[in-house]
Amino acid sequence: MREPRDRIKPALRFIRIHFRQPLSMRQIAAAAGLTPAYFGQVFAKAVGRTALDVLNEMRVAAAIGELMEGDTGIGRIAASVGFKQRRHFGRVFKQMMGLPPRQYRQRHSSAKGVVAAKAPPLTRHVFGGPVDCGCGNSELIWVLARLQCAQCGGPAKPYKGDPDLLFEQDLLTTLPHPPDA
Ligand SMILES: [Zn+2]
Repeated sequence: MREPRDRIKPALRFIRIHFRQPLSMRQIAAAAGLTPAYFGQVFAKAVGRTALDVLNEMRVAAAIGELMEGDTGIGRIAASVGFKQRRHFGRVFKQMMGLPPRQYRQRHSSAKGVVAAKAPPLTRHVFGGPVDCGCGNSELIWVLARLQCAQCGGPAKPYKGDPDLLFEQDLLTTLPHPPDA
């Protein structure tokens, strides 16, 4: 019998590539050739989180990029990261980052006040492929509208290795992040 991690790999890849589209659990499970109920069990066993948690984290990470970059409306950002309803996006965002999208933007991107905003662990998979400063640290922060390494301050660069492997490693090593302090 195959290991849970091997069985869910196609679904991880599917999430990594398609997270900006509205996805159903049925579609994600189908990518792994499993029924939604069985997929849920196998995924939880393999990763220790649900596929929905992972999907939401990718989406929030992408949304933060858009929040930091300019003044695009929250509703448009929600839609561009795969949420059908703005309110649902707001709830998920607040639960993960500790404050609603609009306040997050105000706190972290005003020209005077901002220092740095913590990015969710999976952020590096969201922007132009997995990014990596090269120092081996995987924690990234936003400083104004730029993503950089929290440790060396270096700019994040596209990762050269296998993106699926890195994604899997990050899922297995990152714990649920604390709310933005
Ligand atoms: Zn670094």
